[in-house]
Amino acid sequence: MKEKFVYFFSKKLSEGSKEMKNLLGGKGSGLAEMASIGLPVPAGFTITTEVCDLFYKNDRHYPAGLEKEVDENMRKLEKEVGKKFGDADDPLLVSVRSGAPLSMPGMMETILNLGLNDRSVAGLAKKTGNRRFALDAYRRFIMMYGSTAKGIDREEFNHAFETLKNQHTRKRLNLAAHVKVNDTDVDESELEKLVTEFKAIYKKLIGKDFPQDPKEQLWGSVDAVFGSWMAEKAVTYRRVEKIKGVVGTAVNVQQMVFGNMGPKSGTGVCFTRDPNSGENIFYGDYLVNAQGEDVVAGIRTPIKLSEFEKADPRSYEQLVDVRRILEGHFKDMQDLEFTVEEGRLYMLQCRTGKRSPGATFKIAVDMVNEKLISKEDALLRIKDKDIEGIFYPIIDPDQKDEMKKNFLVAGIDAVPGAATGKVVFNAKEAEAAAAKSEKVILVRKETSPEDVGGMHAAQGILTATGGKTSHAAVVARGWGKCCIVGCEKLNINYEKEELSVGDIVVKKGEEITLNGSTGQVYRGAMRLIKPEPPASFTTLMGWVDKIRAIKVRTNADTPYDARKAVELGAEGIGLCRTEHMFFDTEERRLAIQEMIVADTLAGRIEALNKLLPFQKEDFKGIFQAMDGFPVTIRLIDPPLHEFVPHTEDKQKQLAQKIGVPFEKIRLRVEQLHEANPMLGHRGCRLTITYPEILDMQVRAIIEAACECAAAGVKVSPEIMIPLTIDKKELQILEIRTRQVADGIIKTKGAKLKYLVGTMIEVPRAALLADQIAEVAEFFSFGTNDLTQMTMGISRDDAGKFLPEYVDEKKAGIFSDDPFQSLDQAGVGMLVKMAIEKGRKTKPELKIGICGEHGGDPKSVEFCCRVGMNYVSCSPFRVPIARLAAAQAKIKETK
Ligand code: ADP
Ligand code: MG
Ligand code: MG
Repeated sequence: MKEKFVYFFSKKLSEGSKEMKNLLGGKGSGLAEMASIGLPVPAGFTITTEVCDLFYKNDRHYPAGLEKEVDENMRKLEKEVGKKFGDADDPLLVSVRSGAPLSMPGMMETILNLGLNDRSVAGLAKKTGNRRFALDAYRRFIMMYGSTAKGIDREEFNHAFETLKNQHTRKRLNLAAHVKVNDTDVDESELEKLVTEFKAIYKKLIGKDFPQDPKEQLWGSVDAVFGSWMAEKAVTYRRVEKIKGVVGTAVNVQQMVFGNMGPKSGTGVCFTRDPNSGENIFYGDYLVNAQGEDVVAGIRTPIKLSEFEKADPRSYEQLVDVRRILEGHFKDMQDLEFTVEEGRLYMLQCRTGKRSPGATFKIAVDMVNEKLISKEDALLRIKDKDIEGIFYPIIDPDQKDEMKKNFLVAGIDAVPGAATGKVVFNAKEAEAAAAKSEKVILVRKETSPEDVGGMHAAQGILTATGGKTSHAAVVARGWGKCCIVGCEKLNINYEKEELSVGDIVVKKGEEITLNGSTGQVYRGAMRLIKPEPPASFTTLMGWVDKIRAIKVRTNADTPYDARKAVELGAEGIGLCRTEHMFFDTEERRLAIQEMIVADTLAGRIEALNKLLPFQKEDFKGIFQAMDGFPVTIRLIDPPLHEFVPHTEDKQKQLAQKIGVPFEKIRLRVEQLHEANPMLGHRGCRLTITYPEILDMQVRAIIEAACECAAAGVKVSPEIMIPLTIDKKELQILEIRTRQVADGIIKTKGAKLKYLVGTMIEVPRAALLADQIAEVAEFFSFGTNDLTQMTMGISRDDAGKFLPEYVDEKKAGIFSDDPFQSLDQAGVGMLVKMAIEKGRKTKPELKIGICGEHGGDPKSVEFCCRVGMNYVSCSPFRVPIARLAAAQAKIKETK
């Protein structure tokens, strides 16, 4: 069969449909669908996205046969409309509109009134009896064609228009200098003059006369639309938004209808429901006597739909009908463009409407209650971004003008939400300011682990370099803290303590505002609002919990985080890291350092005994917060050198504080140095060498659990051994753990159940999972380490090359960053195999995941598929994981 490049749409014959979005683009498929269900759509045709693809594949040549098909469709359109393209008496005019499968800023704008020339403009004037209107349409067309299709700076035309208004219209109307001359004040003869001038501008800058042949105009516009697909800003947009697999844009050619014919005409945009609140009310703007572009350009203030209803009840009625029909048909909120020509309504665009996170939930729940969609449909519509958006503060949208005025620069939106504060350039100052309850934004070229304190203290973080997996982004994400990275246009001068963007300078102490949801930075402090999670969110999450088959736990090291996570629906802790507890206060830090530098067992035990009460208290707090939910506690994991000071100054201080000679400390730190600490003396290797650390930690856990249980709190501790590589290794530690634990339980006469299990985070452990399961009561996949060890890529150093691996326009080796979304093909294979082997040995083996991936929707789906019992993620991502688990279940049953 011959390939088809062009699809016609009209009330009588619509060759496309809403299912053909990829081929016809969003706009084209929407127009075809509206036409096919009998809505008033001006007729036209769509040149497919495939043509765009072929155009680029074939060195910017159109496929053979395209021209003929376009000609045929033009004839069809002329017949349907009853006017002829370029006709001197009653010309057919069209718009040429770009339209990709996804809405995409950066694409060519629309050209209206195409088909006008010196002859047909007279015809249009005669036919409509409105010469002013015809000339107005012509000047708009020359300007749009000249700027949009041919790249002339719009200012050239605007300048000529303003000059004309000031030199002629102002004089004629006798207007004072401060009074603005409106476009509508310009009369027929002035417009005539303007058209001549516009044509002269065109000729001067393009070197050719403004094209009089409508066919040349049409192809000039079609070329421009396809050309804009590869324009730099469009390419950049696709890269930044990670849009892949979209082959091109379509071109829509459509009969013009005129909203600028007079007071009974106009143009508008509307949403079938309120996109901010989600309320089921009709929402939109209408501009009387105007053409499409005027609404966006903001030349006059539009009126609300309620006023439109009063002004033109008949047209409004038609629009209300369309609203009802379209919502029923698409079963979702629609964003519509329409035009009224002399009291007749025409639909020009429909698409699924963008909405605020709150509105997303409200509309989904309402539509279930209205029986428009099923609960499953509602759940599948929610995205992780919608949930994130519910909890983060946002910039009060009432400040549109300030936002425009104060815009400073844009970077990569690493963590959503908004924040305001005074600029500081180092972490220490951020901490100091926060201690005085001042709000600050930490601005750095990049961040490193030393900055963590200041990052935590700041309201938000802004870095000039880095991507979504940079240190700043990963750390901030864990806290749900607003963060913008990769802000390349930002110059930071640490010495002068100022940042600059072009000529604009912001000094330390001046306020800025970050919008982490868009990556935009503003000068000054914008007003922020914290949206309350709407009732519809709670309702919908209730459905989520009924549907999902897998549990969701959280990674939490403090009672505060644990409580927060429970509020967000966590059903346990999947990872409680114990080493963070050693850093908490100076006393604790000294005790652990004393333990590390001690050279006898007795010395170490003495130091550990100082830590015991602290750890015990921490665990009690966490058990109380989790009241009955399981709590997985990981024994010490990082290499010991992370706990000791590395500068001479600090070592001397330590020597003094714990009464040990400086030289001894220096030597010990030197001994602890490792060439490759990630693969060094860490994890359970530490407790094999120093079992007394395990003794102390297990004692703290079990004593805390017994005491909580005695006080009536339900406890369910799960002791987790990290970094295991061997059954025998695990067994040694498991036996020791049980000896300590059972001893305490027996002495106290308590009834306490606890589990001993291990992390699977080294490939060898995954390979030998059947043996390891003989000892372990549970597995928890530590997919951060498992990913770095399987891939042989250090997460902390991957920033240097990983972006290139993920960028489709560069190497494009991975489709996702493997530290964000689990590498299912590689690492996932190890996970799957380890689960199968583990359960073969022990069918009741409890299995979960506790890496960053536990909060990534795609990875959660994978975890469901391979039969895990739970996923665990940072508190803020708990609702996202709950939703992802429910969505996985729905997809599985479908
Ligand atoms: P965008 O994708 O930027 O929204 P559109 O192609 O929708 O661009 O067109 C811009 C404006 O021109 C819209 O207001 C639209 O309604 C109007 N418009 C487009 N085609 C026609 C037409 N055939 N008749 C009247 N107005 C039109
Ligand atoms: Mg539009
Ligand atoms: Mg690990």
